[in-house]
Amino acid sequence: MIIKLKKNINQELINNITEKLDNIAYKSNIVSTQYADYIIGVGKNEIDIRSIGVLEGVDDIHRVTSSAKLVSRKWKTQETIIDLGDDVKIGGGHFQIMAGPCSIESEEQIETTVQHLLDNNIKIMRGGVYKPRSSPYAFRGLGLEGLKIFYKHCNAKGIKIITEVMMTDQIDGMYDYIDIFQVGARNSQNFNLLDALGKLDKPVMLKRALSGTIDELLASAEYIFSNGNEDIMLCERGIRTYETAYRNTFDINSIPLLKKKSHLPVIIDASHGVGIREFVEPVSLAGVIAGGDAVITEVHQTPQIAFSDGAQTLSHKEAKIYYENIRKTVEFRKGLKRF
Ligand code: PEP
Ligand code: MN
Repeated sequence: MIIKLKKNINQELINNITEKLDNIAYKSNIVSTQYADYIIGVGKNEIDIRSIGVLEGVDDIHRVTSSAKLVSRKWKTQETIIDLGDDVKIGGGHFQIMAGPCSIESEEQIETTVQHLLDNNIKIMRGGVYKPRSSPYAFRGLGLEGLKIFYKHCNAKGIKIITEVMMTDQIDGMYDYIDIFQVGARNSQNFNLLDALGKLDKPVMLKRALSGTIDELLASAEYIFSNGNEDIMLCERGIRTYETAYRNTFDINSIPLLKKKSHLPVIIDASHGVGIREFVEPVSLAGVIAGGDAVITEVHQTPQIAFSDGAQTLSHKEAKIYYENIRKTVEFRKGLKRF
């Protein structure tokens, strides 16, 4: 059960609630986020939640039996909106395009990409400085020094940054230079990393694991929320199946399902989801129709010489048409009737 506490509740009242939970053999977990305080009651006994709901200091109470509770729509029916400042929002009807290279490669590349994003009215740039690569001999990113240059150019032009954090030790160094922490597919169940990101007040985009189920993704998001950070986005980036004709299988089904199960925004990553340049657009458009709240897409001035993921990366020329079609599809979606 989720018990949302009233603002400025005192310790005595909290103790009173946890005692009552104790009496009915429910374990109390206190969760304090940047927005509110909660008690998550976990137990097996059938109870009438009204007996807890009437206690002083309780603002709201819901029974949620799944293990992913705070991220569930059963408790919070309103969609979460991630507010990055300067009127850049994701979720709850606010759609964003995030674009940029797989890897940050050079200052010149950053400058060219920033200009490309400005020309196309895009507010969020992606680009990895810590790269998870299948081979240890592949390019593994420019690290913190690269991030500082990335930040210098984006900050000067009002562009927000999303970039991947691979381990807890990197968080402090990155914190001042980014707007969204990306958790990659390979770290989707790195619970220590999720715990640490949950202690921050910066948004996190959590990717689905290579072979992760929807419930595992939601459980990972619950780690972040229950540690105190409510600003989470879920990202469908394709899963591994028996099919080898493309890099991953973009699970279109996950988009409406995640939107139904959770109040968190759902992000479409068709670049990794299909892994083939010419299919990134149709798969992204399908994701938009399915209900996604943003796309995150790999673009590069010369994909043929990109340091990583060139085969799934759009050129800036292709990307221009892509953005137009994404925007048209977002508008088209608004006109659809829902039953
Ligand atoms: C990336 O975004 O470049 C990336 C490495 O993604 P994923 O974790 O989905 O493989
Ligand atoms: Mn990539």
